[in-house]
Amino acid sequence: MTRPPTARIALNRPLRRLFDYRIPDHLSVYPGQRVKVPFGRQVLTGLVVETGVNPPDGITLKPITAALEPWPALPETTFRLLSWASDYYQHPLGECLFTALPPALRRGRPSEQKQDEHWRAASTGAALPANAHRQKALLAAIQSAPGITSGELVKAGFNRPQIKGLADKELICRTEGNPQSPGDTGQAAPGPTLSGAQQTAAEDLPTDTNRFSATLLYGITGSGKTELYLHYLKQQLQPDQQALVLVPEINLTPQTLARFRKYFGSRIVAWHSALNDGERLATWLRIRNGDPVILIGTRSAVLLPFTHLRSIIVDEEHDSSYKQGEGFRYSGRDVAVYRAHLNQCPVILGSATPSLESWYNAQQGKYHLIRLEQRAGNASPPELALLDIRSRPLEAGLARPTLNAIRDALARGEQALVFVNRRGFAPVMMCFDCGHMEECPRCDTRLTYHRRDRAMRCHHCDFQMAASPTCPKCRSDNFKPVGQGTERTEDTLADQFPDTPIVRVDRDSTQRKGSIQALLAKVNSGEPCILVGTQMLAKGHDFPNVTLAAVVNADGGLFSVDFRAPEQMVQTLLQVSGRAGRGDKPGKVLIQTCHSDHPLLKALCQGNYPLLADQLLAERQTGELPPFRAMAILRAEADTMQASLQLLDTIKPMTASKGSETWGPLPAMIARKANRHRAQLILCSDSRRQLNRILAHVCQYLDQNKLPASTKWIVDVDPQETG
Ligand code: ADP
Ligand code: ZN
Ligand code: ZN
Repeated sequence: MTRPPTARIALNRPLRRLFDYRIPDHLSVYPGQRVKVPFGRQVLTGLVVETGVNPPDGITLKPITAALEPWPALPETTFRLLSWASDYYQHPLGECLFTALPPALRRGRPSEQKQDEHWRAASTGAALPANAHRQKALLAAIQSAPGITSGELVKAGFNRPQIKGLADKELICRTEGNPQSPGDTGQAAPGPTLSGAQQTAAEDLPTDTNRFSATLLYGITGSGKTELYLHYLKQQLQPDQQALVLVPEINLTPQTLARFRKYFGSRIVAWHSALNDGERLATWLRIRNGDPVILIGTRSAVLLPFTHLRSIIVDEEHDSSYKQGEGFRYSGRDVAVYRAHLNQCPVILGSATPSLESWYNAQQGKYHLIRLEQRAGNASPPELALLDIRSRPLEAGLARPTLNAIRDALARGEQALVFVNRRGFAPVMMCFDCGHMEECPRCDTRLTYHRRDRAMRCHHCDFQMAASPTCPKCRSDNFKPVGQGTERTEDTLADQFPDTPIVRVDRDSTQRKGSIQALLAKVNSGEPCILVGTQMLAKGHDFPNVTLAAVVNADGGLFSVDFRAPEQMVQTLLQVSGRAGRGDKPGKVLIQTCHSDHPLLKALCQGNYPLLADQLLAERQTGELPPFRAMAILRAEADTMQASLQLLDTIKPMTASKGSETWGPLPAMIARKANRHRAQLILCSDSRRQLNRILAHVCQYLDQNKLPASTKWIVDVDPQETG
């Protein structure tokens, strides 16, 4: 008796297992295809993983209900990429595969797109009767915005029969349009002539788009890396090929898109968190259909179903936001490198402060290193200086020389930037009589005081409460904010510079969609102003008139328990300093610190990142830390610390192996977060393979053993934070 054909299906569930179904006679299915399957009393969307599997004897399989489309939603390389990632990050295959689908397709919606037609004028409308006012207005609207969609015209007050009327008269015709850039003419323009240094770097970029190569482009801030990416794509990308440019979320601004569109017109397509489900589906389908787009996108763009991908660029490759912090904890950058390898195409990683991982890979000869150490145009590198604030009087955190430097910059008609590493008014409220500090009732952290709305907020959970004017413990009036946040710095600067606009850029001031754009537009006008902000300001922005960057306190990263903290501090400070002096005027950077003799800060002042990276790498080697060993964290969360520690104590013996080491279990840096008690094991191994095997074993054990319902665990491979 021949067995009926069968298929193994992945579901969008946090389950480390797949499900077998029978393929009914009238269906043929392929790996990567979307299907509907019965599951318990439900019908779920599934993805075919393989066909022709042998279920155990005596088991009657349920049939697949239907195929959602006759083609595989995930083409072969995308499917292989995700299977690899599922194994590498030890995350259930089903959830990994579904991450690569747009939300509509995850929910089992059909993949045909509601086509919205784009229109352009085909005539001046002279033939229209004089009294056809509505039709004339419609024609004028289309003339003024070629590529406008029917939907947009309806929103503007016209109706579909009117549009059809004009089309029937052949006064307008359908056109290819880019739904994300109405009015885009699709025309491309040449960029600036490359400088000598840029030209040399450009000649060193990959020339074979049909072979894997990994290049690390180390280019100081303002050296013109973006210009080089554009030049490279122009030179190497064939008209029928796709390319992917990954950028950190915050860098995907209209300015960045405009810069790419200037070169490539409507071939540029964006992918980011602000797209709605319809836009996501439309873009996803274009990629899946092999449209020769250049996709500029954030982390998850690396998982899209490209079919003709021939180049990948990862800008600001050191940025920790490439690592997903929850669920499927993949690194967009690392997946990009693997994807280039699978596809046999080049990947270019660019940064002014490369991650130690990439720097090490370059030293090992795994990545080809290109150095671009001159600023483009007339700009020269900024001058960095440390300002020891140990015995200086401070005005809410700012020393006299810092205020003077800001005053000087403004007097010259220039702009200044002040970097503070914490949002809110002050990181803590303290009673100067009894010593009480306000803590989050749900976490082991202090509450941050936000004066704008008189609230105390926890930055680790969503707890907030009204700020109390007196000490909640002893009722003393001597209850005061301690330390610096962006709001407080903003207030001090407003006092000191009453006539100068102050622009605060942090998560609080940019919550509304588009607000960061409005804030940055103000700065780009070039008028004297002071920018105050957090990390958000440090990343990749081009402010030609900022000539001074001041860092309120550089010491956070010097003595942290997190092994990545010094690297991140150095990167942030250099990125901040990179915002100064990008135009024709020289830039200056003032770094306030209580440790002006610290070797790391001294080296930083030379602005020599390669030297710093070598120093930091030497420390990592001594500490036997990544990138010299592979690392993963196993974290447990429970209602009590004892339960978390207990679970990890059970696991620990399973992780013992030659060449590997396990630290812990220990409470996490923030041991209690949102009333959950967190503990962790840190696993290090000389062999990534071995680490992967250990993790697979542990995950399987944890899956198969019933844990108390409130106990949760996660595994984080290549963690960004060890806290
Ligand atoms: P990066 O990405 O390395 O920070 P950008 O590509 O943003 O640098 O370039 C910094 C600034 O210098 C931008 O304003 C850019 O337009 C300008 N620029 C880059 N290359 C050139 C060039 N060859 N000629 C003139 N201006 C340039
Ligand atoms: Zn008190
Ligand atoms: Zn909290």
